[in-house]
Amino acid sequence: MSKYWNSRVKNISPYVPGEQPRDRKFIKLNTNENPYPPSPKVIEAIQEAANERLRLYPDPQCTALRDAVARRYAVKSEQVFAGNGSDEILAFAFAAFFESNNGSKADSILFPDITYSFYPVYADLWDIPYRTIPVKEDFSINTADYKIPSGGAVFPNPNAPTGIPIPLSDVLSLAEYLEKQNKVLLVDEAYAAYGAESAVPFINKHSNILTVHTLSKSASLAGLRGGFAIGNSELIEGLCRVRDSFNSYTVDRLALAGAEAAVLDAAYYDGINRRVIATRERVTKTLRGRGFTVLPSAANFIFIKAPIEKTEPCISGADLMAALRERGLLVRHFNRNRIADYLRVSMGTDEEMDAFLEACVAIINSIGKTR
Ligand code: PMP
Repeated sequence: MSKYWNSRVKNISPYVPGEQPRDRKFIKLNTNENPYPPSPKVIEAIQEAANERLRLYPDPQCTALRDAVARRYAVKSEQVFAGNGSDEILAFAFAAFFESNNGSKADSILFPDITYSFYPVYADLWDIPYRTIPVKEDFSINTADYKIPSGGAVFPNPNAPTGIPIPLSDVLSLAEYLEKQNKVLLVDEAYAAYGAESAVPFINKHSNILTVHTLSKSASLAGLRGGFAIGNSELIEGLCRVRDSFNSYTVDRLALAGAEAAVLDAAYYDGINRRVIATRERVTKTLRGRGFTVLPSAANFIFIKAPIEKTEPCISGADLMAALRERGLLVRHFNRNRIADYLRVSMGTDEEMDAFLEACVAIINSIGKTR
């Protein structure tokens, strides 16, 4: 606590990102990065953009990148917003479309109790009241639970950290409900490339759907910081109004060049992401064969729980994470109600996942021996 902080800063609980180790060499399965490199065309484009023109500001409208996204997704450029990673776009979207408490209490926005842990942080930052809706016993989202008066709704599809996808028909039915109340539905499609059905083709049907996308996962560009949103042009203009009240140049020249090349090289990325999906299916099958619970994932990660002995998992989520760390493997644990026994494991290369599976088996076997 500092006496210089204002009350807003005193009261927020910032998001804690996954560890990026600097010393020891780990197999990193903790932040859902892509294990394969970006397209060579991306590297080339960035190298080409590293020239004397860096003395000039970048295009604040990100025109070339937005045109590339528009072509790829069969939408109009004015239906695309580009930003410095999708976290930034989500932060702008919360500020643009959800009502803050302003003298009187605004209607609460809705999101799942188990979901991306940045949502409550943005809500608190902008003083937007929110209510969490419990996911079902099997951790799936029941969109019917969201058909109540609210200030709008947000969830990832597939959800994180469970990886469970939401059927498109459910997303659209909720969008229709919210549209009648003039409320926005934010669909965070960070992991949609790994199996969920995108809502992008329905942005003309439902003017209140904003889909948010990232280049960090499926385009192997977490280090570049790039993302985009697709939705009705009025929503896009709302995002621009927030950005231009904050920082007009959020995407730099190198990132613009790299992001555009990534969006245009769908063939390369389809190839590597197919591999990630195949690895996910193989690892899921192997772990289930060993007695682990693995939720059905449509993402580039899985959410797992150690084999049950009597009624409890034979090792807690925190202990399994620590044991894996000792063996040089980083995974993510969320010490939160309902999911403390689970670990989120990002998909690495097949060799990395073999090392992970071997470590899991060794840890579980060693528990049996010490009893
Ligand atoms: N949404 C979800 C559900 C995520 O898991 C992440 C990654 N932490 C993001 C958005 C943000 O991704 P980025 O800012 O790297 O685009």
